[in-house]
Amino acid sequence: MAITRQLYQLQELDSEIESAEQSLAQKTARLGDRTSLDAAQSHLTAEQQQLDELRHRHRDAEAEVDDLLSKITAAEEQLYGGKITNPKELSSLQHEVTTMKARSDELENKALEIIDLVEAAEKGVAGATAAYREMEAAWQRQQVQLGDDIEQLKNTLADLRRRREQLAGQIDAAAVSLYERIRQQKGQAVAKVEQGICRACRISLSASALQKARSGQPVQCGTCGRILFIS
Ligand SMILES: [Zn+2]
Repeated sequence: MAITRQLYQLQELDSEIESAEQSLAQKTARLGDRTSLDAAQSHLTAEQQQLDELRHRHRDAEAEVDDLLSKITAAEEQLYGGKITNPKELSSLQHEVTTMKARSDELENKALEIIDLVEAAEKGVAGATAAYREMEAAWQRQQVQLGDDIEQLKNTLADLRRRREQLAGQIDAAAVSLYERIRQQKGQAVAKVEQGICRACRISLSASALQKARSGQPVQCGTCGRILFIS
């Protein structure tokens, strides 16, 4: 087989190896990466904290109401117990009871408002929990898939590298090292020739370059330096 054809095949194998290596690196980076899950978990934790805080505020408000109610009961016992007869004292006590009752009503309303907030927060927590569980299940499935893909890519790469080694061994050593040198410099070492034009740099080739290229011997493009391949 013409050397240039072999080099072109070598280049195709190298491209396949390169893209498999890139895929492998990308998938390996995603393996065990919990970034998206962590964000959902933080959201869930924040919702949970808000709910806890609201429940706490509700308990405080109710405790305050209970406290006031017992104070009101005690004051009313004094008020109607008959032990206090001084009108000024009675009037002052009556005023105190009225004030406490107003404050107690206010606190009860506040406690009811907090209950609404608690209910909304409970819904928020339930939603965030469901979203997190769904994401986690999807993440687990994705991780299993990634593991399988990585395993398969490793096998593919091993096979490609074996084939590459085998092919390189069949090609003239000087041609392989020329190929390697150009590949290192330019990324692409072999350029196809179509209608007398180097497809890498799109410059017309000289008649002598075309003649050499047709023979299948490695000849470099006079402009870009790549090895010319006429299929
Ligand atoms: Zn060229």
